[in-house]
Amino acid sequence: MTVPFQLGEPPALSRAVVDREESLRTDAERLRARWSSAKAIALDERGRTPVPLDEQRLAIRDAVTWGDEPPAAAVFLGQADDVDYWAVLDTEVVDGETVRMPGRFGAWVDTVVADGEMWVGLREYGDRLDAAGAGLLTTAVALRNWHRRARFCARCGTPTEREQFGWVSRCPTCEREEYPRTDPAVICLVHDDVGVNGEHVLLAQGAGWPKWARSVLAGFVEAGESLEACVIREIREEVGIIVRDVRYLGSQPWPFPRSIMLGFAARADRAALLQLADGEIEAAAWFSREEVRAAFARARVPHDPESNELRLPGNASIARVMLEAWAAAAP
Ligand SMILES: [Zn+2]
Repeated sequence: MTVPFQLGEPPALSRAVVDREESLRTDAERLRARWSSAKAIALDERGRTPVPLDEQRLAIRDAVTWGDEPPAAAVFLGQADDVDYWAVLDTEVVDGETVRMPGRFGAWVDTVVADGEMWVGLREYGDRLDAAGAGLLTTAVALRNWHRRARFCARCGTPTEREQFGWVSRCPTCEREEYPRTDPAVICLVHDDVGVNGEHVLLAQGAGWPKWARSVLAGFVEAGESLEACVIREIREEVGIIVRDVRYLGSQPWPFPRSIMLGFAARADRAALLQLADGEIEAAAWFSREEVRAAFARARVPHDPESNELRLPGNASIARVMLEAWAAAAP
């Protein structure tokens, strides 16, 4: 019997393994004492981290590389196998040779190679790391992006100070505290009514995306709105159709700059007229399971920007995992 499709495996950036219990970062004395045996990753001013050229793993350094105690730019990520893990933010961008790697929707992005290491971004590289590495880098990028937007008190405008090794921002004037913020966004795979899982999926091209780049629909949850209502509203706003049977699939942190993507599936009538939101959606259409599978088969090869082949989201996105699970399922 056919069952509703589910995510077969956790999305790439949801595979964290370090213990991030709050009590670990409130004991400053203990953390400082453990710095000499701790490990750390660097994040440069553009948010990239080094990986060894011949291996798909983070270049994890001894924390003492940065001195005898945690520098101001260090944030605590968690503990695993009795080792403390940190990230040191905003390190200087290294000089080196510029190389290209596959990025969003298979387009090339430039990166730099120096001292046998390539500096990579989470979005391009997160899926190639093991669970521990992906979790560390996701948390580091999320803290970095929050810090860059929490420099001033939201109540009185005073420059804020960091506490708890990156996890609290405090205003020295009015004492307001802020914790790392996450904005919920829904993302929904809409399939047609055939059988349990449908034969076609609705894919859209967002404004400014590369030619033939298509993905499932997504949008931010509004104040006072449930997730299910958000799914229905976003899809109606973006493509003008009403979905039903909204069901939850799974989630993934997406710290670009500070979202969590909440994945859903829903059904819709494929004969319904699509009406695209001006300025937001450039194209939308139904694609067969065979078309999606064929696009996955070409996925790792960077695309010719002029080609007319369907381009699907990168391996680090939850959209990718949702589409793979749907493509592997029977109608
Ligand atoms: Zn304040």
